Amino acid sequence: MTGVSQPAPAGNRRVVLASGNRGKLRELAALLEPLGLELVAQSELGVSAADEPHPSFIENALAKARHASRETGLPAIADDSGICVVALAGRPGVRSARYAAQGDAESDDESNNERLIEELAGVADRRAYYYCALVLVRDPDDPCPLIAEGRWHGTVTQAARGSGGFGYDPYFLIPELGRTAAELDPAAKNRISHRGQAMQVMAQLLTRELPAGESAP
Ligand code: IMP
Repeated sequence: MTGVSQPAPAGNRRVVLASGNRGKLRELAALLEPLGLELVAQSELGVSAADEPHPSFIENALAKARHASRETGLPAIADDSGICVVALAGRPGVRSARYAAQGDAESDDESNNERLIEELAGVADRRAYYYCALVLVRDPDDPCPLIAEGRWHGTVTQAARGSGGFGYDPYFLIPELGRTAAELDPAAKNRISHRGQAMQVMAQLLTRELPAGESAP
């Protein structure tokens, strides 16, 4: 990869995160810190949130990262995630955060879950997966972004269980654990979740790109 594109952000120590989510900042900062990269939230640099008009997670993540990089002149990292239900042809997908929104009326976790459970009433195939796209662009027009994906398979339950997590977690059962994502402790969820998987892949991609001696021990 290094042979065909410009160097990863190793020489430029700061990377901007195209998200305002404090939890994501903390998790990604911990991932990048051993690689010698300092993560800065886009809000700290006065960058406004970008539009996310695309039908795929990867396109939206790239749009956010390119926007943040263009506005700051820094390499940028962005993610986009959601839940895809097999029987609903992948919906809510990129609309996961606003699934129950109507017109100007915003939705929240409760109304989004309510809509999902209603749509799945009487549906036998409850398979679903969380998906996360995590991308890094070295500059706004980077032709070869680093792209990491994560997919976490489960099923949608009929009733909510657990009080942890957020979003669709109380209804997202991991069959091999016999627990919903809301019943996992945060560290366990981060190790196996779609976001955790994508972050591990991104760490590998970045480690491969950093010049020898600059990566984590
Ligand atoms: P975003 O990529 O952080 O904007 O997430 C989009 C939406 O997908 C969230 O608002 C949630 O509804 C859903 N989502 C993404 N990741 C998770 C998760 O780990 N648990 C529950 N819901 C999630």
